[in-house]
Amino acid sequence: MLVRLPTSVSEAQQCLAEGAVPIGGASLVWATWQRDGFPELAVSLRQVPEANVIGHGTLGAAVVLHRIDDTVPEVLRRAAATVGTGAVRRTATVGGNIVGSTLRCLLPAALVLDARATVLEPDGVHEADLAEVVAKRPLLLGIHWQDPLASGYRKLAAEAGGPPPFVVAAAVHADGAGRRLLRVAVRDGYEVLSASTPGDEGTGPALDALERTDIGALHAQDRDAVREVVTDVLHRAAAA
Ligand SMILES: Cc1cc2nc3c(=O)[nH]c(=O)nc-3n(C[C@H](O)[C@H](O)[C@H](O)COP(=O)(O)OP(=O)(O)OC[C@H]3O[C@@H](n4cnc5c(N)ncnc54)[C@H](O)[C@@H]3O)c2cc1C
Repeated sequence: MLVRLPTSVSEAQQCLAEGAVPIGGASLVWATWQRDGFPELAVSLRQVPEANVIGHGTLGAAVVLHRIDDTVPEVLRRAAATVGTGAVRRTATVGGNIVGSTLRCLLPAALVLDARATVLEPDGVHEADLAEVVAKRPLLLGIHWQDPLASGYRKLAAEAGGPPPFVVAAAVHADGAGRRLLRVAVRDGYEVLSASTPGDEGTGPALDALERTDIGALHAQDRDAVREVVTDVLHRAAAA
């Protein structure tokens, strides 16, 4: 297997045109490739500047999870900090998590930020929404978003060998007209659900509105976690 390390988006595009398979930290693919055989050509974005940014409102796909710091909103930082073990976080990348993993702990966080994706396809760079990225698995260059007023994340404890732990992410955003919007996303098993409701009518009405969405059908202990995270985020947004 040859691993290409392009230093620009146009070089990466050329690699895709040659049929290269994306590779992040190889924390997932290595075992699969050892079992099923290695591809002839792989492409890593490790040396592409656009895929390595960590800035206000932007996160590159080649960023290794343990590098994610407090320049990104709390919801994303906490999501990254709770992925696997320290060894996994020192290896796994944002792109490998959002596009390539089945757990995708970063996805609920990115959804409540209303993040958009920048993807590279053989014909060039495009904007895409996260649902499209998950469905079509293009080469992800990075994600970008408008910073929220407040955000939060919680992953419940899970039994070893059981279903994935329940995850809840929430963020309160201000729109240009002075209104506030609360976005909530949860991972229940391998399924990700999201909902939004006005964020400036008080905690009670926001929680009641969420109960009328798919979130209201979750198990009682998961709904308790949603209530705790939402209450905390609305409280902090009110003080912002
Ligand atoms: C012990 C262990 C515990 C874990 N726990 C968690 C957890 O709690 N939560 C969680 O979410 N995940 C967890 N994971 C999964 C972990 O997040 C993944 O290993 C990781 O996200 C894969 O990242 P990677 O960069 O190593 O990807 P790789 O292994 O390099 O690639 C994985 C897949 O993603 C594709 N890919 C990589 N980069 C891109 C890109 N930029 N664009 C498009 N496709 C790309 C590859 O082609 C491949 O199909 C765990 C993994 C391990 C080994």
